[in-house]
Amino acid sequence: MNLHKLILTANACYKAGEKITVKGIMVHSTGANNPWLKRYVGPDDGLLGKNIYNNHWNTYHPGGSEVCVHAFIGKLNDGTIATYQTLPWNHRGWHAGGSANDTHIGFEICEDGLTDKTYFDKVYKEAVELCAYLCKQYGLTEQNIICHNEGYKKGIASNHGDVMHWFPKHGKSMDTFRADVKALLSGGTSEPSTNPDTGTTIKTGDLVKITGIKYYGGQTIPTWVRNQNWYVQEVSGDRAVINKNESGTNAIMSPVRVSDLAPVSGSGATTYRVHTVAKGDTLWGIAVKYLGSGSRYKEIKTLNGLTSDTIFSGQKLKIPN
Ligand SMILES: [Zn+2]
Repeated sequence: MNLHKLILTANACYKAGEKITVKGIMVHSTGANNPWLKRYVGPDDGLLGKNIYNNHWNTYHPGGSEVCVHAFIGKLNDGTIATYQTLPWNHRGWHAGGSANDTHIGFEICEDGLTDKTYFDKVYKEAVELCAYLCKQYGLTEQNIICHNEGYKKGIASNHGDVMHWFPKHGKSMDTFRADVKALLSGGTSEPSTNPDTGTTIKTGDLVKITGIKYYGGQTIPTWVRNQNWYVQEVSGDRAVINKNESGTNAIMSPVRVSDLAPVSGSGATTYRVHTVAKGDTLWGIAVKYLGSGSRYKEIKTLNGLTSDTIFSGQKLKIPN
């Protein structure tokens, strides 16, 4: 999960300042063909990109302030997928048009034209990871997750179809969604993954060399495979899936260990470490711990695109090497 935080403090819902006891999560999708987060979240933090109409939901504009959700999932300006938290999780949101507002965290997945499977798979995965994270935070299970349409059928939300007009187009449903959250809650981890020996972080899309000689399952990796550079297709915990070489040739391969991968230099693969913020952490303290000097906290801010010194528990921070 690529979680960022930009609380919509100018939105009337935020200003209403009501709190809830979180009992569930409601999944929404926006109903408009606009996958860009900057449509809804602003102002630009350097990652979102500028909304030239300034009609994001952190405005005083009438109509733009009558609704608010706890988070959005969509595209950053560079096309990568991120989650933006836009309300404190226990703040009463205005998303359901019914009593679910009193009990449920609500988030929106930004819709595109609904036919792009690559985009769908990415935002679906991001949403699964967000829900697993929230379930852990609030002691919920996958059974506490519903979509807006299911909320309508239960009589706790207005008559909207989301997300059932979208998920089935790509072979998914709220049942597969809950099953995927359950799988994550029972031991799975989410990307990116860090090699404990080198401190190198491997993520989807990185170009890597295989330094080990065995697949994850124990079989020997052929020399020709080790002599080529490969793109990482998926990372989960200490395993990575690679299936395409530098020239675009596909090969079906067993997973490899993240610790057996090395980024190809100059390929743009990341060489930062990841620190998960714990309660009581400060940017200064993190800079002392990793970089040896508190004043280097500015490098951490820059790398993560932070506009303030505020960090929060559970946030994943990239640390320069
Ligand atoms: Zn909805």
